[in-house]
Amino acid sequence: MSTQSTLTAKRRLSATVESLKPSGIRRFFDLAASMEGVISLGVGEPDFVTPWRMREASISSLERGYTAYTSNAGMLELRVEIQKYLEERFAVSYHPEKEILVTVGASEAIDIALRAILDPGDEVLVVEPCYVSYEPVIRLAGGVPVFLKTTMENQFKLTPEELESHITARTKAIIFCYPNNPTGSTMSAAEWQALLPILEKHDLLVISDEIYGELTYGRMHDSIAALPGMKERTILISGFSKAFAMTGWRLGYVCAEPELLAGMLKIHQYTMLCAPTMAQMAALEALRHGQGDMERMVESYRQRRNYVVDGFRQIGLACHEPEGAFYAFPSIASTGLSAADFAEKLLMEEKVAVVPGDVFGESGNGHIRCSYATSMEQLKKALDRMERFVSRLS
Ligand code: PLP
Repeated sequence: MSTQSTLTAKRRLSATVESLKPSGIRRFFDLAASMEGVISLGVGEPDFVTPWRMREASISSLERGYTAYTSNAGMLELRVEIQKYLEERFAVSYHPEKEILVTVGASEAIDIALRAILDPGDEVLVVEPCYVSYEPVIRLAGGVPVFLKTTMENQFKLTPEELESHITARTKAIIFCYPNNPTGSTMSAAEWQALLPILEKHDLLVISDEIYGELTYGRMHDSIAALPGMKERTILISGFSKAFAMTGWRLGYVCAEPELLAGMLKIHQYTMLCAPTMAQMAALEALRHGQGDMERMVESYRQRRNYVVDGFRQIGLACHEPEGAFYAFPSIASTGLSAADFAEKLLMEEKVAVVPGDVFGESGNGHIRCSYATSMEQLKKALDRMERFVSRLS
């Protein structure tokens, strides 16, 4: 392309899109993909194939000719199952006809939640380190992200002091993601309780991304929406990608009080029409009969979590115990390298791909994210290679 046509093409993009940085994860993994023999602890998705019962339900729905649109909000049967599931598992109660919307992954739910509530210049608090999509999606919705810090010393949990010190007259909402990507941290009901008076005092909306809600080890996930008075101010987002190993199906959901949900439905009906019908059929089966499959996968993640956390500690990398999701977030501060240098050298010298922690925000610096959703055999090899690498540095 000539310089002139590049300039013309650039001017066609909006200033907001032009200013977005490409995902730090992608850039790094394109490099890893071009090399042979790399063990990747980078991808944020289950290593399991979707259990057969869900695939079969979808195939059978196709055979029976279920190929048309569903209602905009998703099949009512599915919304009823979501309502029952959320009530039984997380003690949160949303009305299937007025308060639940089936979306194209949790990703769409995050996008329409932000677009439905933000006016230009509204501030959204984001707890760092955080999932890489929040900042760009807030900006695309006209909002301004304001980052709150957490540290390994407090297990990456948000403190009331940090929350209160960033609230201004423009603050509209806060995004939480617990169990957390990238730290694996969780919040207990008591820890949530400490934040509630501040959320109430400043009348903040909560966007709670609970996509890893089923993946906890030890204690069940405490949804912030289940706490007294919180359902009204919480937009709860979840989906099937992680718990049911259904990333490629693109199916999630969002729950909120009727007025907010109607706002999101407006955007969804004009931009998506509905979530894929065959994926909704698979999701119905997941909620009706897929609990056993899910629990087997969670148990397998638990074993692998124990193995990698021990492994990191043994090779001299301090690592807090992740209570959920499938990521460990060890500190590499003892090596003296920045997260980006550590990740790049590790990839080049030992062919292990991890994600530098600063990709998830400034407070991730000094850490690397390692997904343990990969086979035990690969994890063992990766830890051996990392041990060699770290001992060379010291
Ligand atoms: N939220 C978080 C915290 C994630 O880590 C991811 C995927 O990695 C998503 C949302 C996207 O989920 P989905 O596949 O349902 O769009």
